[in-house]
Amino acid sequence: MKQSIRSVIMATLFVLLGALLLLAPAQSYGAARAPLLVVVDAGHGGKDPGATGFDGLREKQITLSIAQLLQILAWDDPEVRIVLTRHSDRFISLRERIALANHLGAALYVSIHANAFPRSSRVRGTETLVAQSDSRSGRLARGDRVLAQSLQHQLQVKLGNYGLTDRGVHEQRLYLRWAQMPAALVETGFITNPAEAQKLDTFWYQLKIAKALLDGIKAYLLDSGAQAG
Ligand SMILES: [Zn+2]
Repeated sequence: MKQSIRSVIMATLFVLLGALLLLAPAQSYGAARAPLLVVVDAGHGGKDPGATGFDGLREKQITLSIAQLLQILAWDDPEVRIVLTRHSDRFISLRERIALANHLGAALYVSIHANAFPRSSRVRGTETLVAQSDSRSGRLARGDRVLAQSLQHQLQVKLGNYGLTDRGVHEQRLYLRWAQMPAALVETGFITNPAEAQKLDTFWYQLKIAKALLDGIKAYLLDSGAQAG
């Protein structure tokens, strides 16, 4: 009888010790690292509506909704802190957007947009743009491309089932060249395509895009070892 009481006590101690070992590293791990700051930009705003799409849909509204959802999703994330370039329908210049990210020393800059192709309502899909590599240092050009591929990949993984077409990653002459950190611009879909516009105008689709972008950001930070420091 005594033997069995002792074994029950030992087993309980084992379980408690195991629980402590499991919990302790997780707590110190979280406390030791400050979350990395990512500036997320809701494209356009105020006097600049961006593209106008099917049924009068405004690009500046779509971009703001997705950016705000992304910030909410990352609210209590120990690894990432999201700062938005705008919280309302107001105009901010491209220089001011990048200046904010540079001033804060952000780890990444991600700009959210929606595409338009008025000549054909059939054109659809998502693409991610980066500044021309010859306008960037080698390190930043590499960072831009890996970040863009990570975002594009997550969009495809999370939204491929919804018929989202993968238009890939492209270089363009963009204001992102002023960013002192890896930067990418995501075209989340064509608001001139009726089917895509209708989806982009719904809460659940915006939420899925926001989740995909957050996962893309976190996958990049993990892969690049940006958290090791
Ligand atoms: Zn735009």
